[in-house]
Amino acid sequence: RADMEINRVSYRYASDDTYAVQEVSLHLPQGKRLAILGRSGGGKSTLLKLIQGALLPSAGKVLINDLPVQTLGESVTDVIAVLNQSPHLFDTTVANNLRIGRPHATEEEIRQVAAQVGLSGLIESLPQGYDTPMLETGLRFSGGERQRIALARVLLRETPVVIFDEPTVGLDPVTERELMRTILDNLQGKTMIWVTHHLIGAEQMDELIFMENGKIAMQGSHGQLLAGE
Ligand code: ADP
Ligand code: ADP
Repeated sequence: RADMEINRVSYRYASDDTYAVQEVSLHLPQGKRLAILGRSGGGKSTLLKLIQGALLPSAGKVLINDLPVQTLGESVTDVIAVLNQSPHLFDTTVANNLRIGRPHATEEEIRQVAAQVGLSGLIESLPQGYDTPMLETGLRFSGGERQRIALARVLLRETPVVIFDEPTVGLDPVTERELMRTILDNLQGKTMIWVTHHLIGAEQMDELIFMENGKIAMQGSHGQLLAGE
């Protein structure tokens, strides 16, 4: 379990005059689903880096179970997993790609998690083009498959917190909705931080924040924000 407390966190890049993140405070108890919205440059990526301890706050604190995140060192990856828009996959079977999430996973565990994300029929599949040695490029899984493989890997990691950094960018709307559904069905009880530049799926989150010039410009549930509260 992870209780996350973001307490008046600010960050300024050395090369900038203004703060990329300014006095942001958030409490994320285990299981909370937060959406972070806002235009490009608003401070979303910087906030994610601060949450993961990849940047040290210029002021304020990020605490995970009362410990500053930077004191966790590498073991922060046991707490937080990230699914981003272009997960790195290897040109090998789906099963081998999943094992990266949990190297000692049993065949049964691989089968189970593959079923959870709708990859059952593809466990031993190779990216298209793999069996065509003449083809020098073009080895690939489809966009939707890639995200499902990466999601399964995240699930195998068993972290209490998962960050979704625009994972549906570039997918067609149908595939996007399917991936969203699969994610929501499989992340019960996990803390979710969902970064997005549009509102699709945001209604599934407990709380939404809009970042503007590094600050939280609006905050509330989907219903509250739609009602203009
Ligand atoms: P978002 O993810 O919402 O697009 P960012 O966190 O990337 O926002 O950016 C917030 C602000 O910080 C912007 O003004 C951006 O130009 C600046 N910024 C981001 N990364 C760097 C960096 N590596 N060096 C200097 N400034 C940066
Ligand atoms: P495109 O822009 O057409 O999606 P890119 O070659 O730019 O294709 O690849 C985008 C991302 O997909 C990169 O992160 C790359 O590592 C990854 N990728 C490329 N080939 C494969 C593959 N066979 N399986 C999984 N991921 C791949």
